[in-house]
Amino acid sequence: MNTAVLSGKELAGVIQQRARDEARILRSEGLGTTLAVVVATEDEATHWYVRSIERAAERAGIGCRLVDLGANAGQAMLAHVIEDLSAEPAVHGIILQTPLPAGVRADTLVGLIAPEKDVDGANPLSLGRLAVGQPAFAPATARAVVELLDHFEVPVAGRNVAVVGRSTVVGKPLSLLLLERDATVTICHSKSGALERYTRLADIVVVAAGRTGLLKGSHVSHEAVVIDVGTNVLPDGSLVGDVDEASVTGVAAGLSPVPGGVGSVTTALLLLHTVEAARQHSPAALLAASTSRI
Ligand code: NAP
Repeated sequence: MNTAVLSGKELAGVIQQRARDEARILRSEGLGTTLAVVVATEDEATHWYVRSIERAAERAGIGCRLVDLGANAGQAMLAHVIEDLSAEPAVHGIILQTPLPAGVRADTLVGLIAPEKDVDGANPLSLGRLAVGQPAFAPATARAVVELLDHFEVPVAGRNVAVVGRSTVVGKPLSLLLLERDATVTICHSKSGALERYTRLADIVVVAAGRTGLLKGSHVSHEAVVIDVGTNVLPDGSLVGDVDEASVTGVAAGLSPVPGGVGSVTTALLLLHTVEAARQHSPAALLAASTSRI
């Protein structure tokens, strides 16, 4: 079996271009677009990721405001900053980076992000809206998986999909998005037992567990498409996913690798969500919404 490589590079470029075009149109209407990134850690990987967002935003002509509160920031300070950003008209998107300082409750903080600025779908309201099919920003990584499948014309409707991981950031929202697209979704987690009982039945396997080498060739069928979401940093500093690429290559029909797969699409989608948020709250859109209610 020749395993096709489902790279995210081309798709990320297409989405970046859409974000850039939309940001340019907004500018021509006198409107800027700004994404605020709140950080409270010295974690090197987080800062590396934030710098990649800043660079991508700059390329797209979108403002990126880094709010770095340092590793000693407390709950009250973080809450205050997020409430201020939520109320500030010049800010259109807000993301709160993890990890956070010990003792800080991330679940309380994300609930303070205004839903219309919640471009990474972190507020429980966004997840609730997704669950009932109402408009909301999905977490960018979850949407990135669906966009990647669409880009490579992998059919989803009527297919069996195994999602490994049930976090509110990836596994759960992705399962909701796939269900909305008429897939039959099986959600696996650390208590599922032998994964192959589920993954070998799947046409599409998405792995988002954060466990190096978790999914092996023996876990998948020959027609399966495998999307690796995991990001694990090895002791030598290299980045790998959750899929044992050596054993899956030659077995699966397609594999989206790490690095080079979902990650770059995720960043591009954060920017696209930010311009979408800016567009939805532009004076013209708000006027149209208010007149339609009259
Ligand atoms: P998380 O909150 O730690 O959740 C991990 C999930 O995997 C949990 O549901 C856990 O099950 C499950 N799991 C762990 N070990 C397992 C095993 N042996 N078998 C089956 N399931 C297992 O992580 P996350 O935030 O969802 O992130 C998952 C991975 O995706 C991480 O590597 C993260 O770095 C990566 N990620 C990448 C991007 C990107 O843009 N590329 C974005 C976000 C996350 P339980 O619920 O039972 O504990």
